[in-house]
Amino acid sequence: MKNKVYDVAIIGAGIVGAMCAFYLSKYKLNVAVLEAGIDVASGTTRANSAIVHAGYDAAEGSLKAKLNVKGSLMVEPIAKQLGVHYQRCGSLVIGYSENDLEHLNRLLVRGKKNGVKGLEIIDENRLHEMEPNVSKNAKYALYAPSAGIVCPYDLAYATCENACTNGVEFFFEYKVDKIEKKGQTFMLYAGERLISSKYVVNCAGLYADEIAALIFESLPFKIIPRRGEYMLLDKSEAGVVKHTIFVTPSEKGKGILVSPTVDGNIIVGPNANVVESKADTGVTIEGLQEIAQGARTMVPEINLDSVITTFAGVRSTPTSGDFYIQASKKYPKFIHSAGIESPGLASSPAIAEYIIELLKKAGLKLKEKDSYIKTRTKNGNCKLFYDMTEEERKKAIQRDPAYAKMVCRCEMVTEGDIINAINRPIPAHTVDMVKRRTRAGMGRCQGGYCRARVAEIIARELNISVEEVKKFSSNSHILCGRTK
Ligand SMILES: Cc1cc2nc3c(=O)[nH]c(=O)nc-3n(C[C@H](O)[C@H](O)[C@H](O)COP(=O)(O)OP(=O)(O)OC[C@H]3O[C@@H](n4cnc5c(N)ncnc54)[C@H](O)[C@@H]3O)c2cc1C
Repeated sequence: MKNKVYDVAIIGAGIVGAMCAFYLSKYKLNVAVLEAGIDVASGTTRANSAIVHAGYDAAEGSLKAKLNVKGSLMVEPIAKQLGVHYQRCGSLVIGYSENDLEHLNRLLVRGKKNGVKGLEIIDENRLHEMEPNVSKNAKYALYAPSAGIVCPYDLAYATCENACTNGVEFFFEYKVDKIEKKGQTFMLYAGERLISSKYVVNCAGLYADEIAALIFESLPFKIIPRRGEYMLLDKSEAGVVKHTIFVTPSEKGKGILVSPTVDGNIIVGPNANVVESKADTGVTIEGLQEIAQGARTMVPEINLDSVITTFAGVRSTPTSGDFYIQASKKYPKFIHSAGIESPGLASSPAIAEYIIELLKKAGLKLKEKDSYIKTRTKNGNCKLFYDMTEEERKKAIQRDPAYAKMVCRCEMVTEGDIINAINRPIPAHTVDMVKRRTRAGMGRCQGGYCRARVAEIIARELNISVEEVKKFSSNSHILCGRTK
């Protein structure tokens, strides 16, 4: 299909692929991102807890620990640069018993060894002063002031939009299904389509093992899909907790949390259950009961009648327990990033830097561009109407009256925001792409009021019929025809 040979091809536009594209776009390189889904963040990056973990949880000396502590400090400046919502809200791991206290102390020691700053164990008085709604049975907590929250898919969009603005090319619905090596070049096929590249980075998340298999290599561990289910509460519950609240972890992992989100909601979850299919993002009644019970134990007054949506994400849990970021044994110019379970989001900028070091070692020459653009687009970071000051709103409306037309009342999304999302460097052309970029349909009514209007605006802007507008993928139709 294309004769061009790219310098680097990144397989997968989750947060790891996005961060790789973001950093590589600073250099004089031809970079392509090949994504199986219709959009950036089509996999695990779309559905997770969104916590920028401080780094006390990963085993000392592990790659996970090193990249988590480093990466978590890198997220905030990137978020600032690209206008992504981020809050350093801090986290509290609460304990109820002497046994829990012992465990918290182990986490404290481990965290300090990992290099996490500001960690301390606090008593029940301080805990309840900080979080009055946490169970009165909680006696201790490990406080990590450096932990934060971010919008994971917006971080991925922002980094990809910036990369695209700086010349990185994106290919969507490009599911790599065959790889050949011809001379110094990797031939990456998706059916009949072909992209050639000198270097490849495998950031395919849950499917990283399947990409490795395409070069006849098996990773030295298995990827186990472990699903985590969630409930998202209405903004009316904002303030029920101000920090991310965890229970003392068990062998199943970090356990259920209750946390604010950067958009003003409260998130509750996840559980952790092995599933047969990597694509199983179904939500079960048992799962919801499990997380409801977990949340009520930590925050007894939490109002779970205010759930506005439920969802699930699937972790790519490696049987080895650590991130695996290494050059292929056969091909040094083919780098694998695999087993990136939590805290993969928090670690992602550091993972990308680590990958770029491996590419350098394999011979990739990095020369900085003279004209690097720091923002998402040439015109800045595309602030949403909701985030604008009154003065900025007035100016936006004067510039474009579409900003005076409110489309999503729950989240205050204007027609101007939607038109902007449709025309951004990586354009939104489905209702869900608009939703994740603008929040239209993410509020209390979950799109009941605005979905049809959003579909009409997409149809008008792209000059297609409204029946052709899809919800999330090429075959997810919303309307099938007119009745009158
Ligand atoms: C329940 C849960 C909670 C979590 N909570 C947190 C948290 O609070 N904090 C944190 O730091 N981390 C958390 N994580 C982990 C974090 O979400 C992941 O580590 C991170 O999103 C992994 O990113 P990735 O880019 O490696 O994978 P993905 O986001 O899965 O991206 C891989 C991409 O590759 C694409 N792809 C796959 N196969 C192909 C192919 N053949 N060709 C082309 N493209 C392909 C996919 O479509 C996908 O878009 C959580 C994960 C889960 C599931």
